[in-house]
Amino acid sequence: MFLSKYFLPIVKDTPKDAQIISHRLMLRSGMIKQDSAGIYSWLPLGQRVLKKISSIIVNEQNNAGAHEILMPTIQSAELWRESGRYDDYGLEMLRIKDRHDRDILYGPTNEEMITDIFRSHIKSYRGLPLNLYHIQWKFRDEIRPRFGVMRGREFLMKDAYSFDLDQNSSFTSYNKMFISYLKIFKKLGLTALPMEADTGPIGGDKSHEFIILADTGESKVFCDRKWLNLSVDIDNINYEKDLEQNVSLFTSLYAATDEKHDPTKIDPSNLIETRGIEVGHIFHFGTKYSESMGAKVTLPDGSLSPVFMGSYGIGVSRLVGAIIESSHDDAGIIWPETVAPFDLCIVNLAVGNELCDEMSLSVYNFLKGRNKEILYDDTKESAGSKLAKMDLIGIPFQIIIGPRLAKDNKYEIKNRSNGEKHTVDFNNLINLVNL
Ligand code: ATP
Ligand code: MG
Repeated sequence: MFLSKYFLPIVKDTPKDAQIISHRLMLRSGMIKQDSAGIYSWLPLGQRVLKKISSIIVNEQNNAGAHEILMPTIQSAELWRESGRYDDYGLEMLRIKDRHDRDILYGPTNEEMITDIFRSHIKSYRGLPLNLYHIQWKFRDEIRPRFGVMRGREFLMKDAYSFDLDQNSSFTSYNKMFISYLKIFKKLGLTALPMEADTGPIGGDKSHEFIILADTGESKVFCDRKWLNLSVDIDNINYEKDLEQNVSLFTSLYAATDEKHDPTKIDPSNLIETRGIEVGHIFHFGTKYSESMGAKVTLPDGSLSPVFMGSYGIGVSRLVGAIIESSHDDAGIIWPETVAPFDLCIVNLAVGNELCDEMSLSVYNFLKGRNKEILYDDTKESAGSKLAKMDLIGIPFQIIIGPRLAKDNKYEIKNRSNGEKHTVDFNNLINLVNL
């Protein structure tokens, strides 16, 4: 991508009403534009990150045996009347009337709709277990939308729903999602602490929130100091084995939100009190929706049994803000390589200088041939402003080309996360950018 042809509307002044760093950095780096309270457009740089996060989630949910679908944003009120939640959900639900005066709504979540899909197609125990998920925009008319995309009104969520024959196999499905979530957050460069949670309006008997530690988080959390340097080989956990032990390992190390904190369960000398951002929330609610909505399967003996269900949410758009909260410095964003909008950038400090132009283009074409995503700054701005811009938008590697080094056929390469700079020739350059 040539920067001169790209849409990257950098905002020079620090936005006044943005209270937390991720919101400020997202606005300044031209990732999003606010349209109204809690509602944002995603501009090219932001959209790239959103897609990268989504695809990591899709991969890992598929590995865990879930199947991706796509349900609509608009739902009929009828389904919600069946479950009894139409009246219970309260003011967060955006209720709309169509031209025939029928009640519809912009979905805040999809338990009802997925239960309807299930009951329309699965009639026998042979269709179980099943896990379906989608990544779709949700609307919740939050009383206090704030912190940019962290607490929006319209936001992107991944929500999965599991269906099982009995409580035991339903817990197995729950554990798969639990481990899948830990793998996902790790791939995103985050340490997410699972904490027991209340089930709230979703209902049910078992629930965990996944919370990353950040001073600007909305939740107050208490956890064991050991969490800070815990390293578990989560990547190699196989979904097909019994995961109860793995789950217990994570739930045995103390971590709790304010509401659930029990000081008798943790040695005070190990306790840290901090804040966190909820990035995921999983629920086991058994037969709550299958009973009320008649999602039943026939058993081998011919009798009918309501299915056991769970639901599993990840805040995809919130994650963009959460990743920035946990990875930035004074100069700007530091993207983990897995979610960076571009793999590398090339900063040509002397556009118009024949040698610099030629070297920039040849490295650009070479890397493109290796399927790297590259942003090439071919604009005529000052060197200082170009370098500051790349630090702000946080691309992991900067290849800097200027007239002095170009004479010796050398490049400067800067690693955004640790700030290290090396002067290298072409071959070394290739080694340093993980090709
Ligand atoms: P919260 O406690 O933050 O209000 P919730 O418990 O109501 O969230 P869930 O129904 O569990 O949210 O939704 C699943 C995930 O969706 C949450 O873990 C969170 O990451 C994300 N999420 C929820 N509400 C919002 C919002 N208003 N803006 C952005 N992301 C959200
Ligand atoms: Mg929640």
